[in-house]
Amino acid sequence: MRADEMVNRYFLEAAETIDLPEEYYEVLQSSYRETDVQVPVHRDDGSLSVYRGYRVQHNGARGPYKGGVRYHPAVDISEVRALASLMTWKTALLNVPFGGAKGGVNVDPSELSTRELEALTRRFTASITHVLGPFRDVPAPDMNTNPQVMAWMMDAYSSKNGYTPAIVTGKPLAFGGAPGRRQATGRGVAYTLERALERVGRTPEGMTVAIQGFGNVGSWAALTLRDMGAKIVAISDIRGGIQRMDGINVDRAIEKVEAGGSVVDCADVDLLDSGEVLEVNCDVLIPAALGEVITKENVDDIKVDWIVEGANNPTTPDADQTLFERGVNIIPDILANGGGVTGSYFEWTQNIQQFTWPEEQFNERLREKMRQGVDETFGAADRWGVSPRQAAFAVAIERVAEASKLRGYL
Ligand code: GLU
Repeated sequence: MRADEMVNRYFLEAAETIDLPEEYYEVLQSSYRETDVQVPVHRDDGSLSVYRGYRVQHNGARGPYKGGVRYHPAVDISEVRALASLMTWKTALLNVPFGGAKGGVNVDPSELSTRELEALTRRFTASITHVLGPFRDVPAPDMNTNPQVMAWMMDAYSSKNGYTPAIVTGKPLAFGGAPGRRQATGRGVAYTLERALERVGRTPEGMTVAIQGFGNVGSWAALTLRDMGAKIVAISDIRGGIQRMDGINVDRAIEKVEAGGSVVDCADVDLLDSGEVLEVNCDVLIPAALGEVITKENVDDIKVDWIVEGANNPTTPDADQTLFERGVNIIPDILANGGGVTGSYFEWTQNIQQFTWPEEQFNERLREKMRQGVDETFGAADRWGVSPRQAAFAVAIERVAEASKLRGYL
């Protein structure tokens, strides 16, 4: 099933829950605008490579389009479309005043030099600049993009339009970045689990956790949960996985990765294949890498009671149904990883006001927003007797439909 078809299946189930009039479906399911551009890059060896770049703006009823830009060879229009619509539902669920968008270029950035990466980013930004703006569409980092890429995007936009830090979020702290934004997605993952556990009279203290993906999201989720008393027993990155049932030294693993290595370079751990990390016998699983990793092929081998979706779209609809029937608690992606865009909202407001919040204030507000999102989602799930994912989509669709109606799109 294509990624956009998967998201649309979640949409349809939720739309039925709230009795959304069928005539609204098309406006809310399809993209408002899809920009598809060629991105030629002169390589260091004198050759020319041509990539494809996308910016999909799904729905802007509740505010400027918002969403990350990813660099990955598997990027295509259906993936970007799916991820753009997930952003619409995510911003609505977390109640931040944005719509939903996503961008991507089908490039493997590990094959490019820094100069080539900068050229690619500037060319892509120039090609989509007419659909961007601090009150129109505000990109951010996503898979394989980072504060440096945002700095280049901001510079490319500002060189035409004047100094505009609010054109992107996830910027470096040296100009317009917000202390706390880099950590926000991973911390948000931990805050949602903390609150969901609290609702059933439990805490993260002593819980065992496996994390697939040890980039920005996975590593900050690990650190935050470790500080809450959880034990991180398995982690993986692109080179493989590691396991240690009495707790992995998370700081040591981060040191290895920051030095350009991998978690598999850690001492005193058992080695796993990347896929095996999903099947470890522990309490909590956090997929924090690619989409579509929990499928009907491996769902029967998943042993945890809790899944917190740090990645976007990690669970296919068939696997999701099986897990729900088995009583596994899933904190769905549009809630669990919403700390990133919530942090982006805090950064954007600070840019608009030319003012900086201290990191403690940022974190407190982030935690508050995430806890509220959990209460609204799980409260609605109980009220309607549906899964938290269906409830999350339903709450979000109600909000977007209301704004769209008031603005006259529906
Ligand atoms: N890329 C992140 C996401 O998927 C953050 C998007 C943003 O901050 O705009 O939620």
